[in-house]
Amino acid sequence: MTKIRTRIAPSPTGFLHLGTARTALYSWAYARHYGGEFVLRIEDTDVARSTQDSVDQILHSMHWLGLAYDEGPVYQMQRLQRYQAVIDQMLAAGTAYRCYCTPEDLEAMKAAQEARGEKRLYDRTWRPAPGKVLPPIPEGVKPVIRFANPVDGVVSWDDLVKGPISISNTEIDDLIIQRADGVPTYNFAVVVDDWDMAISHVFRGDEHINNTPWQINIYRALGAALPQFGHLPVILGDDGQKLSKRRGAVAVSNYDEAGYLPEAMNNYLARLGWSHGDDEIFSLEQMVQWFDGTHLSKSPAQWDAAKLLWVNAQHLKAMPDGELAQRVQPHLKGLVTDERLIGICGLFKDRCDTLVALAGWVRAFYEDVQPKAEDLAQHLTPAVVPALDLLAAKLQNVEWTASAISAAFKEVLAEAGLKMPQLAMPVRVLVMGTPQTPSVDQVLFLCGREKVLSRIAKR
Ligand code: GLU
Repeated sequence: MTKIRTRIAPSPTGFLHLGTARTALYSWAYARHYGGEFVLRIEDTDVARSTQDSVDQILHSMHWLGLAYDEGPVYQMQRLQRYQAVIDQMLAAGTAYRCYCTPEDLEAMKAAQEARGEKRLYDRTWRPAPGKVLPPIPEGVKPVIRFANPVDGVVSWDDLVKGPISISNTEIDDLIIQRADGVPTYNFAVVVDDWDMAISHVFRGDEHINNTPWQINIYRALGAALPQFGHLPVILGDDGQKLSKRRGAVAVSNYDEAGYLPEAMNNYLARLGWSHGDDEIFSLEQMVQWFDGTHLSKSPAQWDAAKLLWVNAQHLKAMPDGELAQRVQPHLKGLVTDERLIGICGLFKDRCDTLVALAGWVRAFYEDVQPKAEDLAQHLTPAVVPALDLLAAKLQNVEWTASAISAAFKEVLAEAGLKMPQLAMPVRVLVMGTPQTPSVDQVLFLCGREKVLSRIAKR
């Protein structure tokens, strides 16, 4: 059996898009499932739009997602010699040819075709044929190289996602495979690379379905073995339109910044176009075990921000406290913490759906809190003030443990004739800045005697 090799081939013309991240995840998981290899290739032949900053962002997001690659990053612009060698070979074999049409020629061709109501296809003016006399080579025009696509017949493949697809060669023309400046175009470079890199399975977005017939024809012209193709349906925004920057956050890095866990992002992306029974919450390891290329959805998936948030909350809750303490760190932006951080994470993780929310709680333990005037007015009634003084006095001397704090509360309640919420709520507001917190004795314990006393006194 041939070795399973997959790849992700982003163009560095922006951040890592959620759709590309999903394709990367599926390609990675497929390779891992079958004990194969996963390659990262940077498709930087669009020189005007490719930037190092985008490369850095893509690498960073791949790292954040935890999708490790076995080879790469391979940069297409470092492979120009190889593409040139293949072009030369194709020119010699007659499967490619030089075309000297100027942009004006092509414009005129297009206008004439439109006037005749025909599809816009290159008319093969410069394609050599037995007995055909080519036009004289114009002075000063640098040629592009075109692929001599078969003029008839049908290109078919059995798509791993979409099933059988056929396209007639009369529908497509002789595409440009090398620009006049010597840089190859996507459809050509992708074939040479996937061939050289022995890629066995190509997963990509279904916007590339129209490119695949050309690519298959190029493979055949090169006598190369075909990979299998799987075209994943688009991801739609919650408005039913293609997910795009204009309609919300589509960069993987946005979610990192917003406090999502990569575990949750992978889990959510996995379910966006693939399923394993009714399993909703799972780890990458489980996905690798299950992801065999079946149960891929043919129809577009709809991005659901609320669902992602829910998935994130589930992973947050399930994460060990010590691990969480490390993950929340970047969101604390330099705040100096101590060993209490682990306990704080444990106490608050159930009520947070992002690391940013968790970081907000952590701050309350290390920085000053600002209770809202309306919370103070509601909970800090004159009746409770003597009880607060009593509590403060007791807390000054108790052993600093949650159970001793709890016992102090009970004594004060009995002495002052109050119910728990009447005392706990104002204490929460004063100590944490909000009446909604987990168990008050735990919160006070983690906050520390000194801070608790000074915050209760500051009313
Ligand atoms: N550079 C292409 C893209 O980002 C890759 C497509 C492919 O995987 O073949 O869309």
